[in-house]
Amino acid sequence: MSLADFKDDIETCFGASCGFCERKCPVYQVIKKKTFTSRGRNRAILGLIEGKVKPSKAMAKAYFACMLCGCCERWCALPDTEIERELRKFLVEEGFEIEKHKENVENVMKFGNPYGVEDSTKWREGIVFASPKETHTLFFAGCTMPLRQPETLKRAVQLLGPEKIAIMDEEICCGSYVLRTGYEKQYNELTSRFLKYLVDNEVKEIITACPGCNTTIKEKLEKSDSDIKVTHIIQKLVEMLEKHKLTVKKMLGKVTYHDPCHLGRLEGLIEEPREILRQISDFREMPNYGYDSNCCGAGGGVRAAFPELSFEIGKKRIEEVKATGAEILVSSCPFCEEQFRNIGGIKVMDLIDAVWETVK
Ligand code: SF4
Ligand code: SF4
Repeated sequence: MSLADFKDDIETCFGASCGFCERKCPVYQVIKKKTFTSRGRNRAILGLIEGKVKPSKAMAKAYFACMLCGCCERWCALPDTEIERELRKFLVEEGFEIEKHKENVENVMKFGNPYGVEDSTKWREGIVFASPKETHTLFFAGCTMPLRQPETLKRAVQLLGPEKIAIMDEEICCGSYVLRTGYEKQYNELTSRFLKYLVDNEVKEIITACPGCNTTIKEKLEKSDSDIKVTHIIQKLVEMLEKHKLTVKKMLGKVTYHDPCHLGRLEGLIEEPREILRQISDFREMPNYGYDSNCCGAGGGVRAAFPELSFEIGKKRIEEVKATGAEILVSSCPFCEEQFRNIGGIKVMDLIDAVWETVK
């Protein structure tokens, strides 16, 4: 793939110039400059394809300020996030990368996580898992939860039953961060190691704890024509409640739910968390939810590269949360949750912890 492969789409955008992509773009709502929208980017891409515009530092600064949240795609017939990802790849190849992204990608390649932490396996000390060839089911913890929410991860494993799931000795990163910041070569390297592990260990199902891992692993499996099933843990929790394998013993208070972009808009897992929350809490909805949920502002490398912009976007989401009268904000993504905790002003919980508190 290259930027030129999207020329027809870009020309369609040029001709339509409808600007629907601006409507819900969280970046545009804060920055108020059209350069930062899909339409604005597409203008520059056409110039790049036709050789009339040269890539620059200023261009990289503007075009990496996008969470790849997919809000624009809700209102546009074009594959805007795919085009944006291709643009990032191009900018990185041309040497216009974001310093913080480069540093984090180096960490991923060296330590398996963007945070530069050498050992992220401490959370599982003392837990005895099955071997992959026994269960054929792999639990994929991801890079953020083991370091930021180790207790949540332990609870997830206890709810699933460690004897029913296997885990990699050293997890090969799914590459979500690497892919979304434009580092194709490194992403392909991680992917081939990851796919080899799955084949060598006869894996048939992967259960993820993080939405970013979920969409990234699904994408790489689809591209390699694999029939390995990928399930997010909330799908397992719904099933366990439905089959009465978990019994609700107490209720949480007033709760609202933030749809992580990767799980809601990109995966369509919208009803599942609500099915759980209606059973365990006094649930109320924000006006922007599901496919129309607003982004937390942390994804796509934006929090690392543009912390102030990211903070402003997250703050707006917390205002929406507070307007519902909720006492607890529940989500299913360690990345969104960390963003909301850092901004503050509301109690934040992962759905795994919410379930754990009500069934134990
Ligand atoms: S909604 Fe799509 S076609 Fe319309 S201006 Fe935005 S990117 Fe272009
Ligand atoms: S993906 Fe999200 S942040 Fe990026 S342009 Fe579209 S709406 Fe804006």
